[in-house]
Amino acid sequence: MAKKSKPPFYVTTPIYYVNDVPHIGHAYTTIIADTLARFMKMNGRDVFFLTGTDEHGQKVEKAATAHGVDPRAWADKVVVRFFDLWKALDCEPDFFIRTTMDIHEKGVQKLFKILLDRGDIYKGEYKGWYCVSDENFLTEDVALDKDGTKTCPDCGRKAQVVSEETYFFRLSAYQQKLLDHYRTHPQFVRPQSRMNEVTSFVRGGLKDLSITRTTVKWGVPVPGDPAHTIYVWFDALHNYVTGIGYDRDPALFEKFWPASVHLIGKDILRFHAVFWPAFLMASRLPLPECVFGHGWWMKDEAKMSKSKGNVLDPYVLIRAMGPDPLRYFLLREVPIGLDGNFSHEGFIHRVNSDLANDLGNLVSRALTMIRNYFQGKIPPPAAENPADAEIRKAFEEMKKWAVAQYDSYALNKALEEIWAFITTVNKYLADNAPWKLHKDPALRPRLARVLYQAAASLRGVAALIAPVMPGSAQKMWEFLGESGSVQDVRFDDLAFAGLDIGHILKEPTPLFPRVDLKAFLAEEPGTSKEQPMDEPKTPSVDQNIITYDEFAKLELRVAHVLEAVKVEGAKKLLKLKIDLGTEQRQIVAGVAETYAPEQLVGKKFIVIVNLKPAVIRGVESQGMLLAAVSGDKSAIPFFEADVPTGAKVK
Ligand SMILES: [Zn+2]
Repeated sequence: MAKKSKPPFYVTTPIYYVNDVPHIGHAYTTIIADTLARFMKMNGRDVFFLTGTDEHGQKVEKAATAHGVDPRAWADKVVVRFFDLWKALDCEPDFFIRTTMDIHEKGVQKLFKILLDRGDIYKGEYKGWYCVSDENFLTEDVALDKDGTKTCPDCGRKAQVVSEETYFFRLSAYQQKLLDHYRTHPQFVRPQSRMNEVTSFVRGGLKDLSITRTTVKWGVPVPGDPAHTIYVWFDALHNYVTGIGYDRDPALFEKFWPASVHLIGKDILRFHAVFWPAFLMASRLPLPECVFGHGWWMKDEAKMSKSKGNVLDPYVLIRAMGPDPLRYFLLREVPIGLDGNFSHEGFIHRVNSDLANDLGNLVSRALTMIRNYFQGKIPPPAAENPADAEIRKAFEEMKKWAVAQYDSYALNKALEEIWAFITTVNKYLADNAPWKLHKDPALRPRLARVLYQAAASLRGVAALIAPVMPGSAQKMWEFLGESGSVQDVRFDDLAFAGLDIGHILKEPTPLFPRVDLKAFLAEEPGTSKEQPMDEPKTPSVDQNIITYDEFAKLELRVAHVLEAVKVEGAKKLLKLKIDLGTEQRQIVAGVAETYAPEQLVGKKFIVIVNLKPAVIRGVESQGMLLAAVSGDKSAIPFFEADVPTGAKVK
């Protein structure tokens, strides 16, 4: 009987703002998307996974000007940070859309024109409170401050009244249509709490939306009226259709649109669950199945933000152990709809207990016994006894549930199912004690069965964890003597009995080495709460002879201080914004007991620029200044003569 073919699956992340330095929040969304994409493929669906960058708008224009390059060159330079991180995290999108791509700009202009011709876009005058930083008019419900002005609720900056000629999108016409859609598609916004939020917002009334600017040059020009550029949200949201072949590759577009799920952070829910479906209704395109608003990661119970300086650098977490433990932790710790709390202690604890102990030890014990007792060949199994049969049935049951949980985006539950099974297998091995069976030659068929059940279990586990930990799953797969990619497995065909007899097992290397928390915190400068950097020990001068080559590795440059502020809660630390001629950086210096911030602004001194960035008291330091230190006092050697900012010191 022919199987009914499954529908294609199309998953997206938001396009990330190209100016941002990628942090754990970007990593989280993209890891969820990557995991869903890998799972759906293994579950027999054709998959398309799209991510990308939002590259238009005032902030990109400003940053480019500040660096003396044009906006496109600036975007080309900084977008690489995202490419690099996805590679480091083993995230493999099918396409990376950049809003500056021709295919995107043409698609946006075409959609704008369609809506203009239909009367859903019209020209008018808009006056309102405008946040320059977010390039967004504030909604009417933002109350006036005491001084009669308004503060942007998103970024906390003062808004200003702006009046301009603009094109409006007739959002007001879609209020009832949106409410009808929410009612008939209860899964359109997930989780349910977010659906309630969206519904009550729309019930409160929708005003027409200003979707163009005359003040921003760096954007997609309005077709036929190039004094206007298309406002970032109308531009950005359409990446979901231009990235999948809208008006360019009809076969691709027909196959994958509408999207199965738009993964987003809950802060951009309104744009995705209200504006976006209204745009699509207006252009007569089908609506996505689901907008999933995931939670935020807090750091040690506090919200992460640039201003607090407690933003987690994903590289610190993957440098030591690769991407898989981080991918596992983020997906296992909380359901994707809720907020999670990140602490290094919690992270290391989970890596050690779930990965190193439960799974890693099981793999190493089982495979070592097969190597030692059966020359590394999967032994021919004797008949199953009831305990053996239970393991097989437990696997089949677990597979069914884990697949169902993955399929409904309950990734943490899928992992819980798999780990409960791993515990069962560990117990089975302990109960059946193959190391004792081995002592009696008459019990060899029994020994073979026990180890076969263990190996068959691990083969199934390797396939089921592959969406979350592709690298480690592949290693396990190969340890078991399997060839090809574990991700070529299809869950419909994955059976407990799939293991071939007589396969030569590879010698396993440790899958997940145990991490010593203390050593981890000490080695990774971004992770320590007590930073030793404030008071480096003074080595005696005659020790530590280095060669010139060693000295030449230091890149020392003249830095010019632009801004200096105290680091809150750290009496020794100052946060400095420095100019290095070619770029600006932030460094943290332990000189606050000697220097007031204003004493340093405008000064020039020497900075090591190629020192590995560190997070000190939650503030990232991208370099280190040179100072003489004696007790609590420090003395910075300033330049007396005028030297060019950025000049090399040697
Ligand atoms: Zn703002």
